[in-house]
Amino acid sequence: MSSKKIAATINEILPQTQCQSCGYPDCYAYAEAISVSRADINRCAPGGAKVIQALAELTNATMIPLDKDIKPTDLESTAIIDEEFCIGCTLCIDACPIDAIIGSAKKNHSILNSLCSGCGLCLPPCPTNCINIVPLDRSVSQIKPASLQLMKLDQASRSKLWKEKYDSKQARHEKKAAEMEKRVSPENKNSLHISKAQRIASAMKIARKRLTGSHLN
Ligand code: SF4
Ligand code: SF4
Ligand code: SF4
Repeated sequence: MSSKKIAATINEILPQTQCQSCGYPDCYAYAEAISVSRADINRCAPGGAKVIQALAELTNATMIPLDKDIKPTDLESTAIIDEEFCIGCTLCIDACPIDAIIGSAKKNHSILNSLCSGCGLCLPPCPTNCINIVPLDRSVSQIKPASLQLMKLDQASRSKLWKEKYDSKQARHEKKAAEMEKRVSPENKNSLHISKAQRIASAMKIARKRLTGSHLN
């Protein structure tokens, strides 16, 4: 079997949250690293012992515990936005690998709890620290009944959904990047990076203005 096929088979075992806690940019990158023996099989925190066992069987390796340097995570958790402090900067939308956040510029944002894997990638970019990860059962009162139904999907179906969402976001980004490449002249490319930095600075400015300061500490 080619290493590409092995990587694809390994990828099917991985949970597909695209959370990067293994130290790789996405599940497939970790699968590729395992397929060429560049990574150990015990780095996927959301997959836990079950995934390590499956990878051990597939690669004829010995079952080992989760790497001690990797923090265990719980797939039974979700992000919640404290809308009182959301300034609508959209930075969390950019950070979410599976399109589980909705909202438009300068408007309150919301988490699609039926989709959210609780990976936490949206937390660091939030300038007002208004996103928290909570156990699913603790957030039940804030989750719409329709979302609760979707949460009852089995793990394989959730992983399939996460992969579809991630692939579609990647495809969108690639298309947008290709369009930008065509439109932007070489001398204007630097100003695009500056405008992203300006966007973050502007979000921080709005946040400071709206908050008294204690929430930002
Ligand atoms: S789900 Fe596992 S393999 Fe995928 S990115 Fe997260 S830690 Fe890595
Ligand atoms: S909303 Fe946040 S915690 Fe949920 S999947 Fe997206 S980045 Fe991860
Ligand atoms: S990053 Fe924080 S402040 Fe910005 S839109 Fe998301 S939740 Fe709101």
